[in-house]
Amino acid sequence: MAKLELQELTGITVEDLMIESEKVAHVQLNNPLEHALLVLVKSGYSVIPVLDHMYRLKGMISKTAILNEVLGMERFEMEKLSELKVSGTMLTDVPVLKKSDTFLTALKAVVNQAFLCVLDDEGYFEGILTRRAILKKMNRYLHEQVHYHPTADKTNV
Ligand code: AMP
Repeated sequence: MAKLELQELTGITVEDLMIESEKVAHVQLNNPLEHALLVLVKSGYSVIPVLDHMYRLKGMISKTAILNEVLGMERFEMEKLSELKVSGTMLTDVPVLKKSDTFLTALKAVVNQAFLCVLDDEGYFEGILTRRAILKKMNRYLHEQVHYHPTADKTNV
């Protein structure tokens, strides 16, 4: 396996590491919360993107937000799941990335987010970048550094 140089790592862009939109579970703005909860539970994710019918990003919806929305005084009012829409419960203020953003920009962004949506200049959804993808690349780079410079693990890494 060829050694991954620092220059090579910093030259990586979001496009190189992202998951393409076709493979990303998402819901639409006007879906009922029931559908969103179904997609979240079936996919195993706790948060997924919300898109409009043109595939533009509108927000994120989480299992926790849905359960909070239907939590009454004494019980979960599950009948509300079919009445309420994703648009009223989703989080709208979400940070995003562009395909051309650098590895270092993405690394900084995933400190506070498990994943970020990747949009084009018009706001169309192109995919997501996960913290896992960034950590995998960092892990490979740091392990190769230790392998090629055995003293590095005692000093810098
Ligand atoms: P991971 O780092 O793979 O655990 O992913 C972090 C988060 O990104 C997950 O908890 C989901 O919220 C989101 N995510 C990852 N992959 C997908 C996907 N294929 N579809 C929708 N959301 C995803």
